[in-house]
Amino acid sequence: MRAILGGTFDPVHHGHLRAALDVAEACDCDVHLVPAARPPHREPPRVSGADRLRMLELAVAGQPRLAVDDREFRRAGPSYTVDTMRDLRREFGSDQPLLLLVGMDAFAGLSTWSRWTELFELAHVGVMTRPGHVPGFEAEVAAEWYARRVHSPAALASRPAGGVLPIDVTPLPISSTDLRARLAAGRGIEFLVPPAVVAYIRERGLYLDG
Ligand code: ATP
Repeated sequence: MRAILGGTFDPVHHGHLRAALDVAEACDCDVHLVPAARPPHREPPRVSGADRLRMLELAVAGQPRLAVDDREFRRAGPSYTVDTMRDLRREFGSDQPLLLLVGMDAFAGLSTWSRWTELFELAHVGVMTRPGHVPGFEAEVAAEWYARRVHSPAALASRPAGGVLPIDVTPLPISSTDLRARLAAGRGIEFLVPPAVVAYIRERGLYLDG
């Protein structure tokens, strides 16, 4: 099984990375971080795709179970997750389980994603707990949650897609929004982000204007 963690990663932080490693350990799989080239439904990222990719590569260096997948930069138009998962499904064949990871906050808003119900045909969905984000699911998202929920990673192995697995990850209340605000205010981000990423941000003077 391969797990996929999509996001803007503007910038990547220890909340993303520890959660990814927790999933790798709990599900005994590799986790590929897939930055959105042009994330739909939100403000454009504050720094370039090349910078976000480079920070991710620095962050996962030396972690054999984590990798960066730049496929959304290799296609045009908005970066819809469903297109990425379709692409991965094509690459993996129809039998291998795939696990799409989303934070609880992202799952709660899943019905706003393009062709969101197709995601369950293409992959399992792993819903990671996130501090400060109390789930308020819309009825149609709640219906999928209750109908598809499984209670152990082992339950995902028997079919390629369609399950929803809640995954407890180390609670780290870190967000990219907060990191950008700290940098704009001239404050430090040490111990919230890997040292190599802190150094990269400082060298390039990223996020100084928010
Ligand atoms: P922003 O503050 O800019 O919205 P973010 O910190 O939420 O950014 P994203 O890149 O949007 O980071 O997140 C990618 C994915 O990782 C989402 O599914 C999100 O829910 C999840 N995630 C982000 N931070 C954490 C965290 N601290 N703990 C668990 N999951 C997280």
